[in-house]
Amino acid sequence: MSEYRVKGKTGDWEVILGLEVHAQISSKSKLFSGAPNDFGSEPNENVSLVDAGMPGMLPVINEYCIEQAVRTGLGLKAHINLRSVFDRKNYFYPDLPQGYQISQFLDPIVGKGIMHIDMPDGTTRDIGITRLHLEQDAGKSLHENSNKYSYIDLNRAGIALMEIVSEPDLRSPEEAGLYLKKLRSIVRYLGTCDGDMEKGSMRCDVNVSVRKPGDVLGTRCEIKNVNSVRFMIKAIEFEAARQIEIIENGGKIDQETRLFDSTTGETRTMRSKEDAHDYRYFPDPDLLPLEFTQEYVDKIKATLPELPDDKKARYIKDLGLSPYDASVLVADHATTHFFETVAAKHNPKLASNWITAELFGRLNKADLEIDASPISTDKMSGLLALIEDNTISGKIAKVVFDKMFESGKTAAQIVDEEGLKQVTDTGAIEKIIDDIMAANPDKVAEYRSGKDKLFAFFIGQVMKVSGGKANPNLVNELLKKKLA
Ligand code: MN
Repeated sequence: MSEYRVKGKTGDWEVILGLEVHAQISSKSKLFSGAPNDFGSEPNENVSLVDAGMPGMLPVINEYCIEQAVRTGLGLKAHINLRSVFDRKNYFYPDLPQGYQISQFLDPIVGKGIMHIDMPDGTTRDIGITRLHLEQDAGKSLHENSNKYSYIDLNRAGIALMEIVSEPDLRSPEEAGLYLKKLRSIVRYLGTCDGDMEKGSMRCDVNVSVRKPGDVLGTRCEIKNVNSVRFMIKAIEFEAARQIEIIENGGKIDQETRLFDSTTGETRTMRSKEDAHDYRYFPDPDLLPLEFTQEYVDKIKATLPELPDDKKARYIKDLGLSPYDASVLVADHATTHFFETVAAKHNPKLASNWITAELFGRLNKADLEIDASPISTDKMSGLLALIEDNTISGKIAKVVFDKMFESGKTAAQIVDEEGLKQVTDTGAIEKIIDDIMAANPDKVAEYRSGKDKLFAFFIGQVMKVSGGKANPNLVNELLKKKLA
C-alpha cells in the first residue's frame, strides 16, 4: 500500500485524521426518558417532561441502551469498564433545554479497542479506538420557517447516542471512508444502530491536521456533522489543502470547529474550538455511577453474532474465497445474507463470482442496493443450477443474467423461451463438425500438415454455427478426434 501524500509547493504533506462518530442506538425509547425514538414524527411529538428540561424532572437510565453500548464495545474488541460515570457537559443553546448535555467524560463505559480495515489490495490496517461513551442528543433549531423566529424541535432531545472516538491513526481520505464503512457494518451486524446516515442515525466529526512526514503532529481542525462517506472524503481533501496553503504561506492553523458545505465542497469556520474546561464537566448528581458485573458483560458477549472479520476469515479458509472477495461479501449485512443463502446450495466460489462481479456490476450501473435487486436469491440460485448441471455455458449465462435483470423472469424461463440450452448431444455436434470440415478441405489439409493454429478457426466455426450453444469441452474433444 503506497502512502497517501498531498503535494504542496514545499514538498509532500502527510494528512492525519481521527474520527468521532455519533451512532444512534436502535432503541424504542430515549436514554433517560420513556419518550419514543421514532423518526419522521411531527415536531415535538416525542418529548417527555424530562426531555423538555422541566424543573424537578429526574433522568432514569434506559437499561436496554446500556446493553447496546456494551455489545458495541465488545464488537470493537474494546475494554468494557465495569464502572462508568455520567457527567454534565454545560453549554447554552436553544435546542438544549436542560442547559447541559448528559455525557460521559473521564470514565466512559467503553475504553480502548481496535478495528481492522480492509484495504483494496487485500491487506488490513489496524485503527485504534480510543473510547465509546454514552450521551444524549440535543434537539434541533429550524431557521427556514420564518424570517423572524427560530423554531425548536425537541424530538431528538434525549435520544441515546454512542460516541465512538478513534485514535489519530487514519492517514488518507480513503482510509477514513473505509473506517466509517467498517464501523457501520459492525453496528449493523450487532443490531445496535441502523447506521442510516441520511436519517442522521450516524454522524461523523473529522479531525484533520497536516504535517511534513516525520514531524510532530500539527494543529487540528474539526469538521462537524458530516453525513455521508462521500462528503467526508471531499471535506478532508478540501480541509487538508486549505491547511497546507496557510502553512506554506507562512500562516498558522487556528484550532477551530468547521462546517462542510456540500454544495460548494468547502469547509468554513463555525466557531473557535472550545477545550474540555470550557464545558465545566462535573458528575451528574441526578445519576449514580453506572456499575455492572463481569458476568453481565460475559452474558452479552455470548449473544454476539459472527462479526465481519471472523466471517471473512472463515470465507477464506473454509470456502476458498480470495481475501478481497471475502471482504466485499462481509462488508454489508444484506450482501452477506444474500451470499450465504445462495452459497448454501451451490459451489461457494461460483456463487461468490456471480455476486461480486456480475450482480454487483449490474446493481452499480442501475444504482440499486442489494435489497432492491431484481434478482432474488431464488432466481440467482436457479441460474447457478443451470450452469452447474451444464444446461448452459458460463458465456450464455451472462446473456441470460442480463435478461433476468431486465425482465424479472427466471433463468429457466429465459433459456426455454429463447432456446439457449447448451448442445451436449454428441451426434449433433459431430454433424456440425463434419459439415464444416467438408466445406473447408484446404484448411483441414493445412491443419493436418502441422498448422496447429487453425484449431481455433474450427472451434470458432462450430460455436458460430451452433449459436454459441455447443458445449465448449465437447467441441474441443470431438474436433481433436476428427481432425487427427
Ligand atoms: Mn458528542
